[in-house]
Amino acid sequence: MTFKALQTRETEAGYSNVLVDRELSELGEGGVLVRVQWSSLNYKDALSATGNKGVTRQFPHTPGIDAVGVVEEASDGPFSAGDAVICTGYDLGMNTDGGYAEYIRVPAEWLVPLPEGLAPRDAMLLGTAGLTAALSVESLLDTGVNPDQGPVLVTGATGGVGSISVAILAKLGFEVVAVSGKADAHEWLTELGASRIIDRNDFLESAAKPMAKEQWSGAVDCVGGEMLAAALKGLKYGGSATCCGLAGSPKLEMTVFPFILRGVNLLGVDSVELPCEIKQQMWQLLADEWMPKDLSLLEAAQTELSGVTDWVDRILAGGVRGRVVVKLPE
Ligand code: NAP
Repeated sequence: MTFKALQTRETEAGYSNVLVDRELSELGEGGVLVRVQWSSLNYKDALSATGNKGVTRQFPHTPGIDAVGVVEEASDGPFSAGDAVICTGYDLGMNTDGGYAEYIRVPAEWLVPLPEGLAPRDAMLLGTAGLTAALSVESLLDTGVNPDQGPVLVTGATGGVGSISVAILAKLGFEVVAVSGKADAHEWLTELGASRIIDRNDFLESAAKPMAKEQWSGAVDCVGGEMLAAALKGLKYGGSATCCGLAGSPKLEMTVFPFILRGVNLLGVDSVELPCEIKQQMWQLLADEWMPKDLSLLEAAQTELSGVTDWVDRILAGGVRGRVVVKLPE
């Protein structure tokens, strides 16, 4: 049996993405075969789709670190044919063929049941970005950050993780200050729940010295590099900043002063290798109390497999506002 898949291929001129027909047998055997209904586009997918060997070692390859769909056949684990499931992270879309295809075959331990009441499309509107936002917020709450302590900062605020973090934090009653490089996105960020928006360059300027004014009880950083350093420098005494990404830079150059003079914390966030039970808890929160007030605000675009490549360059250039969902053929 054949199925449609997007395949990233290595060519002499670089990398190209082509729509191909594949044989189901090429996915191997065992585990759980899932008929994919929706996927999404994340920064990491764009890296894989452009040949980044840090994400995907071997090509041809099908990217797509997120997938939601229905179990077609299960040879192990708790799932049966017909179950609605979500798969995010682990090796999906990295070196295991991913969600930009009508079918994936994955170990049962990679799957989370789709929470009741969460539509498959909405699950992908959230996707790995939503899961990472939820984990970031959860780790801030775990260190005791609460709305009474003052504003919380979100960097890379118009991106997938950033925008969902803004929406969740606002729903939990936090005063959210968003940092963004997109001058035309202020109204949108306000609609999502930000109380104030700071221009990216102004923010960096305000934290040029080893320490900045104490302002933030917590921070969700999606950018890394000097943006993460600036967030850490502006934390209030005992505050915490989460670090999940490197859209700006993988480097962190700063002094230890904020840590040793203000006792601030840097919290690493990983949504990929995290135990499945915790993913399941986060998905439940996302489906219930933490569901953003207006999910439609988060949607940048809906595309089909043939349209994914157009969005890849845009996300790599930091030009996407919110989330891109990918619809698989029915
Ligand atoms: P995204 O949608 O591309 O958003 C990233 C945002 O960062 C952009 O929208 C932009 O926001 C800002 N940005 C981009 N380039 C920048 C630059 N050069 N300097 C400063 N800001 C820049 O990506 P995402 O899916 O939200 O992911 C964000 C990061 O987290 C990525 O690095 C991704 O790989 C990582 N991530 C990690 C995990 C994990 O498990 N640790 C999970 C998901 C994602 P503004 O224009 O609003 O400033």
